[in-house]
Amino acid sequence: MSGELLRIEHLKKEYPGVTPLMDVNVSVNEGDVIAIIGPSGCGKSTLLRQINQMERSTAGKIFFRDEEINAPGCRADLLRQKIGMIFQSFNLFPHLTVIENIMAAPTALLGLSRQEAYDSAKALLAKVGLLQKVFSYPDELSGGQQQRIAIVRALAMKPEILLFDEPTSALDPAMVGEVEAVIRQVAESGATMMIVTHDMAFARRISNRVFYMDEGGVYEDGPPEEIFERPKREKTRQFIHQLKVLTLSVESREFDFIGCHAAIEEFGRKNDAPQDVVQSLLLLFEEIVTQLLLPRLPETPCILWNVEYDPKEEAAAVSVRYNGEPFDVMESDNELSLQIVRGCAENIRYEREDGDLANRLLLMVKRRGKQG
Ligand code: ADP
Ligand code: MG
Repeated sequence: MSGELLRIEHLKKEYPGVTPLMDVNVSVNEGDVIAIIGPSGCGKSTLLRQINQMERSTAGKIFFRDEEINAPGCRADLLRQKIGMIFQSFNLFPHLTVIENIMAAPTALLGLSRQEAYDSAKALLAKVGLLQKVFSYPDELSGGQQQRIAIVRALAMKPEILLFDEPTSALDPAMVGEVEAVIRQVAESGATMMIVTHDMAFARRISNRVFYMDEGGVYEDGPPEEIFERPKREKTRQFIHQLKVLTLSVESREFDFIGCHAAIEEFGRKNDAPQDVVQSLLLLFEEIVTQLLLPRLPETPCILWNVEYDPKEEAAAVSVRYNGEPFDVMESDNELSLQIVRGCAENIRYEREDGDLANRLLLMVKRRGKQG
């Protein structure tokens, strides 16, 4: 079964002063799990809202099983029952218990008896590991648990397609995994889904197709290996490339060390980098910036720390440019820090160039097992 479920033709959506969707033309087949990626503001949420009929279209057509759903006079409420939507903010009813949250729509709209709705809600809760929370209120649950309930609530309507708009971006990092696991479980059950996400590692693992959105539409559509490894079009290439690059700048001795640390960890997580590579990157940053460079640089230091991650090799290339007199970090007399640097990196090379940041240190970080 892989018939066409959804077809979008020349869809346009205009807001006063901005037209995020100019001409969208795509179709979605039954069982597709589509990750939607693209720069902020490119219209990803707008596209989901159009499919879910939360807003009128400016022009174009959307067909759901060959029925035109955005035509004037079409019953959006009936259609919306077939489309489940999960938002970044969980949107549970705060005054209802978990089980009432889940039972409300199926009893009101699908005509299920309370007993049927209760039994089916409990079965779904068991699947996501939250049966013990049946009578809890949303504010008694963690963000991750609330989002799992929101997914169950959508599933209780037996939708034909599920739309997720950044389902994990409002969560503490520690809770992302449990929600992703539930989304993966739903995907593996054969559900058709479209998932807007900034988490490229997740996008890649979960999807069979990726939509890269840009220039007012779905700019490139392809399998994840293709979009992430050999995108065909220029803007996709640029977007994918910059995801793999992290630049940090240090321009004071009182710089935000914690923030830099967090940025490196986040970069590693988004790229699905192995933990030992991330650990090495963190150690290198600490030793090179705070121990080896800052004590030696001029009164106004300037360090540009650039990391480019290669997911295929599971390796990171680090380039550190800094101001001041010619100084090769590796000639420092801080033997302890140098030992740590050598333990974390290889191919360490110093270069002197022209310009303000004339010193340049290059190094490679690989998985421990792969170091040669
Ligand atoms: P994305 O989800 O890709 O970050 P959105 O779909 O939220 O982007 O928004 C696309 C563009 O449309 C943005 O420029 C945004 O400011 C604008 N926009 C979104 N919703 C509205 C609205 N209800 N009214 C006016 N402008 C909007
Ligand atoms: Mg959005």
